[in-house]
Amino acid sequence: MKRREFLTWAGAAGIAATAISGCKNETSESAAPAASNGPTAADPIKWKMVTTWPKNFPGLGTGANNIAKYITEMSGGRLVVDVYGAGEIVPALEVFDAVKAGTAEMGHGAAYYWQGKMPAAAFFAAFPFGLTADEMNGWLYHGEGIKLWEELYAPHGIIPRPGGNTGPQMGGWFRKPIDSLEDFRGLKMRLPGIGGEVLRRLDVSVVNTPGGELFQALNDGTIDAAEWVGPFNDLAFGFHRAAKYYYAPGWQEPSATMEALINQEAFEALPEDLQKIVEGAIKSAALDMLSEFTARNNQALKTLTEEHGVELRYFSDEIMQALFETSNQVLAEITAEDAFAKKVFDSLKAYRRDVAEWTEGSEFTYLKARQRFLESG
Ligand code: CA
Repeated sequence: MKRREFLTWAGAAGIAATAISGCKNETSESAAPAASNGPTAADPIKWKMVTTWPKNFPGLGTGANNIAKYITEMSGGRLVVDVYGAGEIVPALEVFDAVKAGTAEMGHGAAYYWQGKMPAAAFFAAFPFGLTADEMNGWLYHGEGIKLWEELYAPHGIIPRPGGNTGPQMGGWFRKPIDSLEDFRGLKMRLPGIGGEVLRRLDVSVVNTPGGELFQALNDGTIDAAEWVGPFNDLAFGFHRAAKYYYAPGWQEPSATMEALINQEAFEALPEDLQKIVEGAIKSAALDMLSEFTARNNQALKTLTEEHGVELRYFSDEIMQALFETSNQVLAEITAEDAFAKKVFDSLKAYRRDVAEWTEGSEFTYLKARQRFLESG
């Protein structure tokens, strides 16, 4: 048999096999009694989702809204999810506990907000000199990521799922230029998570000002610098009116995974098709979030630099080297103190080493070439 003939034959055989198994399923399904007392659009299951974001906040809050909207739409209104912003039912940083207690069936936020309870949680959001969004999704969906995350939250009766990604973040807003390590000394800066601990070692006074108070603190000089997300989100907050120097790269969050939390008991009580819909809707909204940040960041950055006089700057090699070395020390300390954090970080480190060879050989090599060609017109 020639190759082309074989491919045609194999393709037809495959179609036939699918058709047969399709018939079988149809027969067994039609023989089963129709679900008579499940939820309907007229008598739906109603869920609440609490979030760590201000209601409808661009990118992050709308990501949570999308999950709720898709679940409601995909289920034909049989499962209706209502979203509550930070402070409406519980404060931002009580989302995890509210889902654990069943006060809300779902939550949306980022895992590093729970690192005070569980140091390992931070790694499911971001860590300094960590993974890009694509790389992180590889670890989560096709590596050990989601399995380890589930293991960490299982004692709390919570099922975690990746609930979006911001893509690469920025290094922050500064009221004066940061030319050398000396310039960090004595600064008062908002930067949460492991990155904040790294800056503390460089004599920065690190604070964790909540998002809603951040602009005011930077504007009145309570803090000298602030890190939030990236151009799309930062423009919405108006940081450019309080600080002029905007630094890249976001060494502390080369991407940040958001999380969707599901109360396990509520999830297990759903009919199987609604369980699949919940999972599918979360995945779909997560893709939307990353795509929106990718599409909007550069337009926002142009608005900042061209219309608002923001100066885009890059941390020097000397600064990046010091941040990298200090990050390694901090990560070593965190993982020495907590066995599960070590287990998660060991998995991430092995994966980073492996995926970096691929990303750098393929994507990075291509991007460098494309940059040369585009620059030369
Ligand atoms: Ca951030």
